[in-house]
Amino acid sequence: MKTYHVNKEGYYGEFGGAYVPEILHRCVEELQNVYLDVLESESFRSEYDNLLRNYVGRPSPLYLAQRLSEKYGCKIYLKREDLNHTGAHKINNAIGQVLLARRMGKSRIIAETGAGQHGVATATVCALMGMECIVYMGQTDVERQHINVEKMRMLGATVQPVTSGNMTLKDATNEAIRDWCCHPSDTYYVIGSTVGPHPYPDMVARLQSVISEEIRKQLLQQEGREYPDYLMACVGGGSNAAGTIYHYLDDERVKIVLAEAGGLGIDTPMSAATIHLGRKGIIHGARTLVMQDEDGQIQEPYSISAGLDYPGIGPLHANLAHERRATVLAVNDDEALAAAYELTRLEGIIPALESAHALGALAKIDFKPSDVVVLTVSGRGDKDIETYLKHLA
Ligand SMILES: *Cc1c(COP(=O)(O)O)cnc(C)c1O
Repeated sequence: MKTYHVNKEGYYGEFGGAYVPEILHRCVEELQNVYLDVLESESFRSEYDNLLRNYVGRPSPLYLAQRLSEKYGCKIYLKREDLNHTGAHKINNAIGQVLLARRMGKSRIIAETGAGQHGVATATVCALMGMECIVYMGQTDVERQHINVEKMRMLGATVQPVTSGNMTLKDATNEAIRDWCCHPSDTYYVIGSTVGPHPYPDMVARLQSVISEEIRKQLLQQEGREYPDYLMACVGGGSNAAGTIYHYLDDERVKIVLAEAGGLGIDTPMSAATIHLGRKGIIHGARTLVMQDEDGQIQEPYSISAGLDYPGIGPLHANLAHERRATVLAVNDDEALAAAYELTRLEGIIPALESAHALGALAKIDFKPSDVVVLTVSGRGDKDIETYLKHLA
């Protein structure tokens, strides 16, 4: 049977793999050798599930949005990852990887962050578990996202500003990889999305797959069937989308719609729509689609949403697009802003700007009245209030 899951070599079709410097071969191989055994072990499962329930607040609600449904002429359920502790889906992954690090005997945790959401989630879990935490963040982002920087510091993490390149996420990731090369034996690198060398994309997808596991149960209860007609999510690196679709990947009854950040438009130089604009290449250890110029230099992406502003994309998602298993839509800044205001005024939910891109894709699909749609609200909009107010409708 055809599968869209990873194969034994760490590939999704022609995408994925592990392209890392020599010095990291052993680290990455060690991770490849242990991650499945740990993630599937009884002791990990019980500790992880307990924290998801009692610390994160799972299961997150699957909420039937009545007024939004009326507007789009179908039945729209919102998967409320915005209600998690720390305000987004990223905590699901951070808890899982720090638990894994502890089982591997690592004492030092490093992470990269762009907008700061993954940094805050990782710093939170490190505080909870009493572990040292160093977060690499581009200097530009340190200035743009100062509240998250203060939160990380309050949680006891060291925020390491990065001043190379454009001083954003890509540069922070390079610096984190460099740190890992220098401390391979005691350090665990917590990657925040379904990117990086194998096994990270598969590991992060598995840790986020609690989302689709819950969707199945909740749909059965509320709708009388386990599957929707559509699953929708935004994609930066792809982790909230991977979690949303994980248990439905090979179920072709379910249509998958991924929303990437169009920025000012895919026909302008100001965009982060990697699947539309990228070409095959290698970024941060994986073969995937990359926004690059003719010489293979990585192009700076742009989006109003810091969480979607990444020049790569998870290899799982590159393959889903390549195989036409998923429909990928570019949603521009103005469309996302309008969708955020619409959700706020229709349902009383202020979504993260990233999530607003998934909402902005609703208007681009021709739904039937009988369609059941599940759309993941990946995070809450508190962190984006300043941006929203600047564009007050
Ligand atoms: C980080 C972030 C994203 C983008 O990351 P993915 O790995 O693509 O999910 C989306 N939404 C929110 C709220 C985020 O914080």
